[in-house]
Order: sequence, then C-alpha cells, then structure tokens
Amino acid sequence: MHRILIAEDEERIASFVRKGLSANGFTTTVVSDGRGAIDHACAGGTDLLILDLGLPDMDGFAVLRAIRDARVAIPVIILTARDSVRDTVAGLEGGADDYVTKPFRFEELLARVRLRLRGSDHAVEPTVLAAEGLSLDLRTRRARVGDQTVDLTAREFTLLELFLRHPGQVLSREQILSHVWGYDFDPGSNIVDVYVRALRRKLGADRITTVRGMGYAVGR
Ligand code: CA
Repeated sequence: MHRILIAEDEERIASFVRKGLSANGFTTTVVSDGRGAIDHACAGGTDLLILDLGLPDMDGFAVLRAIRDARVAIPVIILTARDSVRDTVAGLEGGADDYVTKPFRFEELLARVRLRLRGSDHAVEPTVLAAEGLSLDLRTRRARVGDQTVDLTAREFTLLELFLRHPGQVLSREQILSHVWGYDFDPGSNIVDVYVRALRRKLGADRITTVRGMGYAVGR
C-alpha cells in the first residue's frame, strides 16, 4: 500500500484530499507546515508528497529544495493557485514532478498520483473497466453497452469511471460531487441527479441503481 504525505495548511482541502486518497486505498499523513513536511519526508516511508506552495512557515519551493538536498527522491506533486502557474513551472525545474492547480477535482489529482507512482512499482493500471454489462475504455474514453459504442461527455466519462472503479458500492451524492466536480461545488446542487439521468439515457435506465436515502450504485 502506498503512503502519501499531504502538506497542506487549509484544513478543508487537506481533508478532501485525505478522504479521497483513503477511499482509494492509500495510507495518508497530513502535515500543515513546511517543517513538518521536511521532517516526515526525510524520515523515510513516504512514497509520494502532495505539496501546497503556500504553507505558513515557508513556501513549498523551500520545502522541495530541502528534501531534494537531503537526497529524498520521492515524486512530488505541487498544489498551486491558478494564477501562479508561472512560478509552478519554475518549481518543476526545481525538482517537482507535476502540479495541479486549485480548485481541482479529486479525480484529476488521483490520476496524477497514480501516474507518478506507476514508475515506482510497475503496477499495471487496467485500461478497460467493466461491470453490469457496461465497459469503459480509459484510453479512447468510450463506453460500450453490449456491442454498442456510446460517446460520453467529459463529465459523464468521469462519473461512469467513478462508478466502475467501485462496482457494487453505493456512492453518496456528496462523494460523487466531490470526486467529479470538486470541493468548491455547492453541496445543495442537483447536478449529480442530472448527470445520472443523462447516463441512464445513454446506457439504459437499469444500469445505475438508485439506493433511497443513500445514493447511487452500479453493479448492485
Ligand atoms: Ca496554503
């Protein structure tokens, strides 16, 4: 199991990332300042660092320099505000592997995490997910129902991918919202229902089960 260190001082974002990664089978540690990040990363046992640039005691670049100077070679993914992408590119030259701009969707971060960890353990990611007579090709981003190919919009694809990565599991609206739309989305929104309806129209009404008072599931 991979151990991920999250260095983020904004509690809402730290908890969003931690919950999402735990739900996907990662072990997580959260630190809220740069000193803690350096100490943890240098102590060993961390497989990947998610590093916020704006930490209270020092900026993320200083953290990055310190851990690279200490010869810690773990992959580092920087979290940064959209308006400081220019700095971030400098950060990549300074030893980071990737960056994600805030606000971000969880799936976006998860994809980067998986990509950066792939080199280290050669785990083969499936390219086709399937359940309930449905399949989804992650390369072509097309779904199939029986022998019929179905084109999906980007959001529909992400939503179906989420269901197929958790077959048989009931996903709450809140879980779906944070995975597909991100933490900045209004929790009172009915957008999840709207997209589930759209997927049902394309894939067949009975593929996605409504579990009353709980949420939705595929393969249940
Ligand atoms: Ca911050």
